[in-house]
Amino acid sequence: MTRNGRLPRTRRQLRFAVSAEGRRALLYSASDIEVLDAEADRTHPFLSRLGPDILSQSPSASELSARLGEARFRGRQLGALLLDQRFVAGLGNYLRAEILFEAGIHPRRRAADCRDEELERLADRIIALTRRTYRTRGITLAPSRVARLKAAGAKRSEYRFWVYGRDDAACRVCEGQLGVQPVGGRKCYWCPSCQPLPEGGDQGSGHL
Ligand SMILES: [Zn+2]
Repeated sequence: MTRNGRLPRTRRQLRFAVSAEGRRALLYSASDIEVLDAEADRTHPFLSRLGPDILSQSPSASELSARLGEARFRGRQLGALLLDQRFVAGLGNYLRAEILFEAGIHPRRRAADCRDEELERLADRIIALTRRTYRTRGITLAPSRVARLKAAGAKRSEYRFWVYGRDDAACRVCEGQLGVQPVGGRKCYWCPSCQPLPEGGDQGSGHL
């Protein structure tokens, strides 16, 4: 995304540009581009299976928590489900870790094993953190903590995340050691104390 009138310096080939309201989106180096009308968008084999986009479609927390309880989603590990674009479109690896931390839910738990209030909290955090990260350009830590750390001279990398990429650091809430393990094929960061796994749950490998 850039302001109109100036192109970034790059050797990559500009393949597609959309301009609106003084800004434009530029797509470089894409090998396969399709422009679809609304009907084709609804019937496209991949796009028609995408879950709701939090920013453009604004699903409510109760709609999302009901979606978590659907038969096709409720048996999946939440850490993997949040990366699945059929559940919700657009969540990446850092957002899923940050969302699960704020919800206090271990990434290997399943919606089927969570209480209703936990699912409601998770749905609420999916929406809130997606919007926050859009506003802050990628900072998921609570704004009051960001302000405090900035005032103390911290760098962006030091006030950006709750848990993501911080497995060698202490939890910002309980001060315990954070952990990392593969969930859904990618590294997932979490706090073993703030996001406990209930008795009898799969503990996973605990480390990579
Ligand atoms: Zn903690």
